[in-house]
Amino acid sequence: MADKNATELLGSDAAGIARACALLAAGELVAVPTETVYGLAGPAGSEAAVAQIYRAKGRPDFNPLIVHVASPAQAERIAVFDSRARTLAARYWPGPLTMVLPLRDGAGIAPAVTAGLPTVALRCPAHPVMQALLRELGEPLAAPSANRSGAVSPTSAEHVMEGLARRIAAVVDGGACEAGLESTIVALRDDGSWQLLRHGPIDAGELAELLGPPGDVMRQAIEAPGQLAQHYSPGKPVRLDAVAAEPGEFLIGFGPDSCSGACDCNLSHSGDLAEAASRLYACLHRAAASSSERIAVAPIPSEGIGAAINDRLRRAAA
Ligand code: AMP
Ligand code: MG
Repeated sequence: MADKNATELLGSDAAGIARACALLAAGELVAVPTETVYGLAGPAGSEAAVAQIYRAKGRPDFNPLIVHVASPAQAERIAVFDSRARTLAARYWPGPLTMVLPLRDGAGIAPAVTAGLPTVALRCPAHPVMQALLRELGEPLAAPSANRSGAVSPTSAEHVMEGLARRIAAVVDGGACEAGLESTIVALRDDGSWQLLRHGPIDAGELAELLGPPGDVMRQAIEAPGQLAQHYSPGKPVRLDAVAAEPGEFLIGFGPDSCSGACDCNLSHSGDLAEAASRLYACLHRAAASSSERIAVAPIPSEGIGAAINDRLRRAAA
């Protein structure tokens, strides 16, 4: 007899997308590949589906979700765009930038999505599977990362299954995620200031060139739980800036000379930061699944996307 709680593994072909779309339209949850990490998607207008997202992840209800849209036009029906928001959308969408903007009245977003905040986080993703689903469904999708709350984010369908099998209806397998780190989150305030709420694939320095210098950090305490000191946890102690492994450590290296060639996992043999970002969570998942009791990570330069990698590693080590 078929297991009614089994999570379906769908292909990313037309049949898989049609099935995913039917499940979402029925209010079920489907994990979907994006260019950042796999998202756990449900219709953003459905109170029941959104409640199920929080339950499946074990996510605290004060931690709001990102709403994914097919186009800037759909985003403008949900949030109030000023000229800065239009500039950023024109430059970075579709892509790995999330904007926190004032929520419109009557936007049709379930209140739990924004955790009661007067703002909403919006992103227009570039991944063809997520784009196809958004277009076919014609509705925005709430989609946090498809992992149990606090754990390492998934960059493959297997990672999603490890964390959420039997808790969600289906996973669309679109292979490994390209960027491999969650989106950059920027809050555009109505007083004209802005803040970086989460480091990500789009560099803060680049945003400052467009927007001018950022305002004061974090006005509201629990606005961005990607900012919780402990997050992205592999469930074992993590030691940073390691030059060599100590006994019992799984060593994650970076660059050609790292760990004298004796790494358990090298983020990038050539020392390429974009490659390191795309492989970071896969290495952390391997380290978590290994028999080693602890994890050590080689130093990573903080330039460009290196800042986002080090941000995730600090929280994984906290
Ligand atoms: P995740 O869903 O795991 O990618 O995390 C989503 C991130 O978006 C969290 O850090 C949220 O706090 C942040 N976020 C979502 N909505 C808002 C909002 N209205 N204001 C500030 N941050 C938000
Ligand atoms: Mg997450």
